[in-house]
Amino acid sequence: MKPIGVLSLQGGYDPHLKMLARLGVEAYKVSTLSEFDNISGLIIPGGESTTIGKLLVQHNLLEPLRERIRSGLCVFGTCAGLILLAHQAEGSVQPLFDVLDVDVKRNAYGRQSSSFEAIVKLVGENLPPQMAGIFIRAPQIIRIGSEVKVLASYEDFPVAVQQGRIMAASFHPELTQDTALHEAFVKLAQS
Ligand code: GLN
Repeated sequence: MKPIGVLSLQGGYDPHLKMLARLGVEAYKVSTLSEFDNISGLIIPGGESTTIGKLLVQHNLLEPLRERIRSGLCVFGTCAGLILLAHQAEGSVQPLFDVLDVDVKRNAYGRQSSSFEAIVKLVGENLPPQMAGIFIRAPQIIRIGSEVKVLASYEDFPVAVQQGRIMAASFHPELTQDTALHEAFVKLAQS
């Protein structure tokens, strides 16, 4: 299997690399177009979605990566990564991939100081019943399209979703000991 790439333009890519190492999966940081040819899946980490978006535009990566995702590159976005994959971020004009049929509201779970950890309910097949989720200025998923499957929910809102080869979570699974979503992503990338 080709390794997993973790987009390293800005934000929390290191914890994803550590999580994948714990799973015994080869992974490395990616930030240039040629590196995207040699990966089976891409993780877009948390951070600041406006900054990552600007850097994607500046480095001429937004369009080519969008094309790759549309043609089947497996991708997993967490927090800011979810925002970047979404169709729309309510009230915010910023570069987005627009490959995942959801709308999000940024920072809907409070500011940095009100970051919290909660148990989220997992509902996908082959997933354990629950896992820990860390929410840091997390986006809320406020609309999901008919092709989008809910993988996890918290207080009646979806917090992890899947559409084909795209997975996304509004929280940070990479900051917990719970490997369920990363395992599901690696399996998807291998399929
Ligand atoms: N609030 C951030 C944004 O809008 C996301 C926060 C995160 O990734 N932890 O990009």
